[in-house]
Amino acid sequence: MEQVDFLVVGAGIAGLSAAARLALHGRTVVCEAEEAPGVHASGRSAAFAHFDMDAPLVRALTAASIPLLEEPAARRHPALFIALEGQEDALDRVEAGYRRWAPAVERIDASAAQELVPVLKTGAEGIIGALLDRDGRKLDAHALLEQHRHALGAAGGRIATRSPVTALRHEGAHWIVDTPGQSYAARIVVNAAGAWVDGVAQMAGVAPIGIQPLRRTVITFDVPEGMDVSAWPFTKTVGPGFYIEPEGRGRLLACPMDEHPSEPCDAQPEEEDIALAAWRVEEATALEIRRLASKWAGLRSFAPDRLPVAGFDPAAPGFFWLAGQGGFGLQTSPAMALAAEALVTNAEWPEALRAVDVAAAQLAPGRLRQS
Ligand SMILES: Cc1cc2nc3c(=O)[nH]c(=O)nc-3n(C[C@H](O)[C@H](O)[C@H](O)COP(=O)(O)OP(=O)(O)OC[C@H]3O[C@@H](n4cnc5c(N)ncnc54)[C@H](O)[C@@H]3O)c2cc1C
Repeated sequence: MEQVDFLVVGAGIAGLSAAARLALHGRTVVCEAEEAPGVHASGRSAAFAHFDMDAPLVRALTAASIPLLEEPAARRHPALFIALEGQEDALDRVEAGYRRWAPAVERIDASAAQELVPVLKTGAEGIIGALLDRDGRKLDAHALLEQHRHALGAAGGRIATRSPVTALRHEGAHWIVDTPGQSYAARIVVNAAGAWVDGVAQMAGVAPIGIQPLRRTVITFDVPEGMDVSAWPFTKTVGPGFYIEPEGRGRLLACPMDEHPSEPCDAQPEEEDIALAAWRVEEATALEIRRLASKWAGLRSFAPDRLPVAGFDPAAPGFFWLAGQGGFGLQTSPAMALAAEALVTNAEWPEALRAVDVAAAQLAPGRLRQS
């Protein structure tokens, strides 16, 4: 039985970023079921940071996080939000949400947007206007995870890979956590198991909070020879539609922004979502997608109110939830890790979060148990 202060379940971005901070305060081990960190949602993300998020809380957490995201894990890259016919109101809404955190964001017309992304259709068949954020961030999930793995190790913590947590029970002042090769006695368990968080809670005899995994599909494809897309902005429709972003000089990533309820699993792309991704891109652009370079799917996991969760379970001492990172888990991870550190160690609420008006109560899991 290994004694630890903090046992983190899950080496995705949520678990690893929090573990890197917790290791500064006590002995920390991250148990990860897979053979490497980031195999699930964190490694399957489109990895872009922007403010086109519905919830003000998520925008505030993003604003707190962006200054903490450094090269090479994050580099400046523009984002373009395009409105198709009928999406004028949505464009106004996105702009209103954006202004507080990125006042320099610019409203541009369809032809200016087309100068940035020459394949976009304009007029009756295409876009009618756009919003340009020159200060978005392209993230590198692998580099982010590596940064945290390194910081965790430097502070004396470690990741135990191929270590699925199979049982948890509370004994005295400790959680006894079993994995196939090793058991741990932990003062605090941090449940950062992504799509699996409710299942981990149930193993511990803790009531679930209703996290729903939603599958999302991504394709990549090569653009015509000689076309250099590397400077194209991350380009996303303001309402239902798609987004595209460059993957190097000659390749684009595209996503139809699908959301299909799923069990926690190793998500796989479905043929009809792959076809939908290609169709939506072809409808709005001059591109023809003849062959895919790759395709994948991942699970974005949401709380019932679609807001992130960080806090101790009100009914289970020492059981900490770090869950519901939805479609914004990478871009909010620095702020969420600071929140988790402060809450787990009972420290003062971080200035970075106070500055953006985020309070601990907004993240607390107790809010999901009120009804
Ligand atoms: C297609 C797609 C596009 C996205 N685009 C963006 C984007 O542009 N920007 C952004 O910020 N976010 C984006 N996201 C969201 C982001 O990827 C997630 O919010 C984030 O990765 C969630 O991290 P996590 O650590 O909670 O989950 P995960 O990365 O899934 O990590 C959970 C880990 O827990 C482990 N685990 C589960 N059960 C156990 C157990 N019993 N024992 C041990 N380990 C266990 C799993 O193996 C897994 O590694 C996107 C997601 C998808 C799928």
